[in-house]
Amino acid sequence: MQILYTAFESAPFIKTGGLGDVAEALPAAVKSIKGDDVRVMLPKLKSIPKEYTDKMQFITSFDVPLSWRREYCGIFSLDYKGVTYYFLDNERYFFRDKPYGEFDDAERMAFFSKAVLESTLYLDDFAPDILHANDWHTALTCVYIKEQYKETKLSKTKTVFTIHNLKFQGVFGTEIMGDVIGLPWTDETAKLLCNGEYGPAINLLKGAIIYADRVTTVSPSYAEEICLDYYGEGLSDVLSGCRDKLSGILNGINNDLWNPAKDEYIDVKFTARGISKKAKNKLALQKELGLSEDADIPMFAVISRLTEQKGLDLLTYILPHIEESRMQLVVLGVGDYKYEEAFSWYANYMPEKFAALIKFDNALSHRLYAAADCILIPSRFEPCGLTQMIAMRYGTLPLVRETGGLKDTVNNENGFSFKTFNAGDMQYTLDCALDIWFNNKDEWKRKMKNAMAEDFSFVHSAEKHLELYNGML
Ligand code: ADP
Repeated sequence: MQILYTAFESAPFIKTGGLGDVAEALPAAVKSIKGDDVRVMLPKLKSIPKEYTDKMQFITSFDVPLSWRREYCGIFSLDYKGVTYYFLDNERYFFRDKPYGEFDDAERMAFFSKAVLESTLYLDDFAPDILHANDWHTALTCVYIKEQYKETKLSKTKTVFTIHNLKFQGVFGTEIMGDVIGLPWTDETAKLLCNGEYGPAINLLKGAIIYADRVTTVSPSYAEEICLDYYGEGLSDVLSGCRDKLSGILNGINNDLWNPAKDEYIDVKFTARGISKKAKNKLALQKELGLSEDADIPMFAVISRLTEQKGLDLLTYILPHIEESRMQLVVLGVGDYKYEEAFSWYANYMPEKFAALIKFDNALSHRLYAAADCILIPSRFEPCGLTQMIAMRYGTLPLVRETGGLKDTVNNENGFSFKTFNAGDMQYTLDCALDIWFNNKDEWKRKMKNAMAEDFSFVHSAEKHLELYNGML
């Protein structure tokens, strides 16, 4: 089987979020199962480190037709972890300081999507059976392939489209249909229309949902939830209309990178058997952060983008209660000013029990996962969520709201959860956790052991994807 995987970012070349992690892990994991020919196409962005660009090999160049334009595209290739990566080059579109958020993103993404399909025509040994696109940036590949590539070697290619976060849809003015996307208005293409904030608009994500042969999201529960108004971000009708081709496949984590037995960033390495050593990491972090140094006080952590999605309104609401409880809280995150301000204020107000680390710091996140006893993830919605899975590897119990991937991974055996998005419910669950910590150490240890025994490696996700691909052919 030949599989073309495309995304606008992939670690270690370009990463701004979870998509980058998945795009790095999944292609290699799929390939490792049966040795299928998996190749990845990415934009050759300015931010790709020189150590990689230096190793890339130029293959060929051609012009991409995009509406009335003909734009240059170069193909570079690089082997990474046994997978062939192609980087599509056009400096006018991609040699910018940041990957996203440019005034001409519609044109940049339309160009990239078109260039992905066009590139395959110049690669003699590659006729993908499956095209797997991700998020709105590459959504147009699923549209173009059916509208404009029926007479090419892509005529039999099946398409999978994965939604990593429904909130981001790529919505633009209707004028882009002819001028940028370069498609005529027909009954089919009109399905890209949605009700935008200022009237009718083109919605690229919606286009992919309608045109793709299969649509996936990153957890089974999120796949169900997005068919409901509350989670559907305006597309619940479209999604529930596509239920027969919609499914959820849980993401995984990199077990080598997140491993308390080998983690180079942490003070004292530990395993489930030598779990008592974990507390030494807490004492070290308490000292470093100026918190009271006491292994008996439970340390709660937040490691997160500080945005509304992550349910931080609930946490800010119960901060006065936390002040009265015997516990410590360490927040590591950057994001919306209102949360940064609230957490910084409280950290100043009670420095012995609350630390607010307003930054993105990967090394520190490893130490915090290892040191904390419990991680708080009260998300409003959570397509999959990686932090709960990482925390469990380190015996740090997740306390989550039951939504999306959190619901699929956390239960009463390996953590704590509450159902309704309500601060009272979160506070009650936090109090239950504190009660177990102080009064039922055996139960806490049982949950820790269960959490550490969970297997969230990417192999499971890769197997399910392979099953999906095979089922389509
Ligand atoms: P999302 O992709 O919605 O931001 P996920 O839970 O899927 O949330 O992934 C978040 C990832 O980013 C995790 O690996 C987490 O450890 C990391 N992370 C989040 N905030 C920080 C931070 N301030 N410093 C270091 N790592 C962070």
